[in-house]
Amino acid sequence: MPSKSISIFHTSDIHGHFLSQDYAQKTTSESGASRLSQFLKATRHPGDIYMDTGDVLQGNALAYYLAKHPSTPHPFSTVFNALKLDYFTLGNHDFNFGLPVLSSFLDPLNAQIINANILRDGTPFYGVPHVIHTCENGVKLGIIGLTTHYIPNWENPAHIAGLEFHDAFSSLTREIQVINDQCDFLIVNYHGGFEGDLETFDITSNTGENQGIKMLQELPEIDLLLTGHQHQTLHQKVGNTWVSQPGMNAASVHVITLDFGEGIKAPTVRMQAIDLADYSEDPDILDLLSDVESHTQSFLDQPIGQFDQAYRIADGFKARLNKHPLVTWINQVQLNATGADVALCGLGNAVTGFNQSVTLRDVLATYVYPNTLVVKAVTGDALLKALEKTARFFALKDGELGVSNAFETPKKEYYNYDMYDPITYTIDVREPVGHRIKDARLNGIPINPDTIYKVAMNNYRASGGGDYPMFKDATLLLDTQQEIVTLLIEAISNGPVVTLDDPKNITILGD
Ligand SMILES: [Zn+2]
Repeated sequence: MPSKSISIFHTSDIHGHFLSQDYAQKTTSESGASRLSQFLKATRHPGDIYMDTGDVLQGNALAYYLAKHPSTPHPFSTVFNALKLDYFTLGNHDFNFGLPVLSSFLDPLNAQIINANILRDGTPFYGVPHVIHTCENGVKLGIIGLTTHYIPNWENPAHIAGLEFHDAFSSLTREIQVINDQCDFLIVNYHGGFEGDLETFDITSNTGENQGIKMLQELPEIDLLLTGHQHQTLHQKVGNTWVSQPGMNAASVHVITLDFGEGIKAPTVRMQAIDLADYSEDPDILDLLSDVESHTQSFLDQPIGQFDQAYRIADGFKARLNKHPLVTWINQVQLNATGADVALCGLGNAVTGFNQSVTLRDVLATYVYPNTLVVKAVTGDALLKALEKTARFFALKDGELGVSNAFETPKKEYYNYDMYDPITYTIDVREPVGHRIKDARLNGIPINPDTIYKVAMNNYRASGGGDYPMFKDATLLLDTQQEIVTLLIEAISNGPVVTLDDPKNITILGD
């Protein structure tokens, strides 16, 4: 008796999180494909399908270790095979360590790779453009796989030599014409997201990086659109089409259940987000990765470089009040990587700083976010507004400088206080919020409201995160797609002893 329902499990943007490990803190996290394995063992039925939409090979210390110590098969493909992954579509970050590392992952993968728009010599460089999956009950699912074609804007050209990235939307249109008559239910696996608002269809970006809205608007024959790339959590119906985007880091899996009535080929659809924190890690997956996991842990504790002295961060408030030399160094790395005029960064709520001899784990525990580096074209006016915004961090409490309540409750947001280089400026905390920035200069010249400055910052701030809308509205000049923490690691690993500047370009007046 064939099953009347089929479940499709969807993950995306796992980013190396195959184990529940926080490598910076050496503690257990609540996400990971090891938990997904327990969930699948408990709930998967014969005939169910597991699909992943990419960004596997990059994003945490385990992934970094495996990229620097390549072996075949890549352990992540071994885990996906144990999880019985059925279909895989590539993500942009899967190219980050070059084609040999990518091949060590793709070649041993038992899953069918679906890829309609990354070609070499006119054919898919891996996989097939589409699949017709015939279910036990005879229903035919058409599945088309696509990856954001924006990759050449980010990727090191050597990593993608010889590859052609075709427009995802037009490749999809072509494939639908090929298979639409052959299938009962059309699924698109797209490592890309939405270029605007899913409710209103207001478009906020038309670079082509994300084309999900265009797909929904112009291709209503799509029954199920599985997306990723933006790390959003989306599980809803938009017009005729069900949409899924299951966040990142294997924190959750989406379950799309197709219910087939007797003799009916058009199923009713249900979609559910499962929080994997509710599942324990599967010992079988721990076994598969135990060797590389212990190697990664010792790799993280090896010195990668030397500083001229220890730069511990013992007091986070003082580190912000006096701009700790490590902040200046992070800004300098951002300036060196981009050629920008100005760089800014904050510090995580609780960070450790470095001993004189620095380990990878020290870097991960000091730059704690997976942010990437971007450059925006910011007017002097917007720059001054951003400085005023960040100057809200300080408050006078009984005549003493302290942290304003807005950065303490409802949650600690010390990381939303930015420090800038190489501009010089004064924050006069005695003045009301919005009127505190005095004498802001770049290279001795006052910041001109009408001048455009190239400003390097992390992608979170660039998207307006932390309530900095002036950065969201600024034009994007460069999206490196490189993690800032990786740039910091390279800046230490590639050089002699690192000596830090301590320019004291920010003056804070409080009494
Ligand atoms: Zn991703």
